[in-house]
Amino acid sequence: MERLTESQQTAVEHQFGPLLVLAGPGSGKTRVITHRIARLVDRGVDPRRILAITFTNKAAREMSDRVRRLVPGRQMWISTFHKFCAYLLRRNARMIGLKSNFTIFSTSDQKSVLKQVLNDLDIDPVHYPPGNILNQISKAKNDLVSANQFARNFNESTGDHYQAVVARAFPEYQKLLLRSNAVDFDDLLMHVVQLLAENNELRAQIDEHYQYTLVDEYQDTNLAQYQLIRMLSHDQQNICATGDPDQSIYGWRGARIDNILRFERDYPESQLVRLQDNFRSTKSILKAADELIAHNVQRKPKELFTNNDVGKPVELHTYTDGREEADMVAASIKQLAESEGVNWSDVAIFYRVNALSRELELALTRWQIPYQVAAGVAFYERAEIKDMLSYLRLICNPDDYAAFARIVNRPTRGIGKQTQNKLRRWAAQNRWTMTEAIHHVEEHPTLNKRAKFALKKFGELMDHFSLADSGSMEQLLRSVIDRIGYLKGMKFTEADYEQTSNIEELLTVARQYDKENPDDPTLEGFLESTSLASDLDAIDSEAGQVTLMTMHAAKGLEFPHVFIIGVEQNLIPHERALKTNDASEYEEERRLLFVGITRAERGLVLTQTRQRAFRGKTLHTIPSDFVREMSLEQLNMASGFGTSTSSQYDRDWSRPKEPAHDWNELSQEITVDNLHLLGDKLDALKANQPSDLNSSSAEEPPLDPGSFHFDVG
Ligand code: ATP
Ligand code: MG
Repeated sequence: MERLTESQQTAVEHQFGPLLVLAGPGSGKTRVITHRIARLVDRGVDPRRILAITFTNKAAREMSDRVRRLVPGRQMWISTFHKFCAYLLRRNARMIGLKSNFTIFSTSDQKSVLKQVLNDLDIDPVHYPPGNILNQISKAKNDLVSANQFARNFNESTGDHYQAVVARAFPEYQKLLLRSNAVDFDDLLMHVVQLLAENNELRAQIDEHYQYTLVDEYQDTNLAQYQLIRMLSHDQQNICATGDPDQSIYGWRGARIDNILRFERDYPESQLVRLQDNFRSTKSILKAADELIAHNVQRKPKELFTNNDVGKPVELHTYTDGREEADMVAASIKQLAESEGVNWSDVAIFYRVNALSRELELALTRWQIPYQVAAGVAFYERAEIKDMLSYLRLICNPDDYAAFARIVNRPTRGIGKQTQNKLRRWAAQNRWTMTEAIHHVEEHPTLNKRAKFALKKFGELMDHFSLADSGSMEQLLRSVIDRIGYLKGMKFTEADYEQTSNIEELLTVARQYDKENPDDPTLEGFLESTSLASDLDAIDSEAGQVTLMTMHAAKGLEFPHVFIIGVEQNLIPHERALKTNDASEYEEERRLLFVGITRAERGLVLTQTRQRAFRGKTLHTIPSDFVREMSLEQLNMASGFGTSTSSQYDRDWSRPKEPAHDWNELSQEITVDNLHLLGDKLDALKANQPSDLNSSSAEEPPLDPGSFHFDVG
């Protein structure tokens, strides 16, 4: 057992009844959850009767690993709300008109479905951007307002144009989802809550099954999540919630800080445990965090305390522009590594918006610092990956309209938009799915012979695939790639490199799935893991790389050294919060910076620039209001680093170039069977790079990695 303080011990030992652990960052809330689970199992509680909800997949995985170390060989439910709800929904799908193999739509699927709806309703998507409408729909769902309720609630005399459009589109969107046997992220929660609300027997059964419920980061639950927890800890109130109101940062996505504040009213029997000590950060870091958060008015004052050293002062650096900022951050990371022996993986760089990562990536490449960006979702948004997954989705769920629309003519099969639209309208008239319509295509009154033939061929192609026949997810994916001729014409060339290596990566993901699910591989299980992937998933804390992520993604994590860039007005606080002039949004921005700051263990550097290129314009910046609220060690560029580093900066930095691969050698045709060669070749190419970056020359940063020579083996 790891060490626990007295109050942590109290929370761990408490067994029956509701428990609220309210404490600041780094005080061991997550550790309490882990130990509590282990303790319950230790006491003889059947692990299957424990339900632990974490905020991210990564947190769930780490918690599972730690619990397994504390009590080996036990299986229990440690997952996110969405994953847990997907599980419940699959088991009870019929009750709300879905089938258990339903698809979980991504944001881009949602958009494509909504565009279809707007088209059918004759609503111009230029005036009513689908993204905005989807935001409204999401908001409604998080507040448990259904499509029909939304439409009913809409009042012509008080609602604006916009809401009128949402009120029309929302129910149609929902119908199309249902016809596609699909749900969006918010539906996962909303459907389950609705299901349990309407079926008390089922609710009681699940409540009874999960004897112990634990929820970390309770301050960021939205109404749907809150209701779910309430319903599952109604008869058996062994609920343990941990959280910190000062770290509530998802209000913009429907989280309600109120949920944690009313816990004691919701569960009058509850016991409250406060954890006082911060084990994570130095006194200097905690002081800055404390000074900052004290400016929030809508909060109960709470003191942050640590026995840790004072440590280095928190620094604020001001640079001319984003490029210089990125280079100097990279330079100081290099310096940390060289003079203090800090590992790359001990360093994280946070930013308010993803767009700020680009300049950093360039700088880190120039300085030959290995890094990873928390952007796992972006992988699944790539065209070739979406294509491949759409095939799998359509195999799994023939009703999936978004998948159908995406791949019916990709690669081209002579099935044009007009044919698709005709088929779609006909399918709707007959209450068929697209796949069913294809099976009846001969009877279509107006489609010509060629179109019918092409559609029939497509139907036959899709009928051909099955996971059972393929034997594994990887094999199924391979056979899809092969039979549809997706790689046809692609070569081992630079031009095709991105696409093909992404497909190779997806094969690796499939192989991983096969490995992790040897007994019960299912197509919906695999697809679910890709749909519920999040930016943090790919982050490997042992990869020996500097980590780049947004402050939102950083929640719950910790790093010895943290850099927060772009601490400027309009970034943090975000321009949206400044524009709306809404005090609670503004305070959420302050909490966000507070979360960022409190991730740091020993070193914390905030940076700002005088001007920043953003969205194609270069603008003068204004220092963040929040900066003045903390006593920081203010450093400018010249005094921040030794003059040698600064003067190096003055030299003409050349843009990092792609390594000079010799692609000619690889220019044979790609097939699904030799796809892996691409990876091998690239690994060989990479192996020739000076890979032991930590031990590279200490004197001068390599200014132009492009000039390094790579020999093809
Ligand atoms: P956050 O609010 O940021 O999520 P938290 O309250 O969940 O923080 P943890 O992540 O559980 O805090 O713990 C912070 C750090 O302190 C971790 O590295 C953890 O291992 C360590 N820690 C927690 N409790 C103790 C303890 N009693 N003794 C030593 N280290 C501890
Ligand atoms: Mg935590």
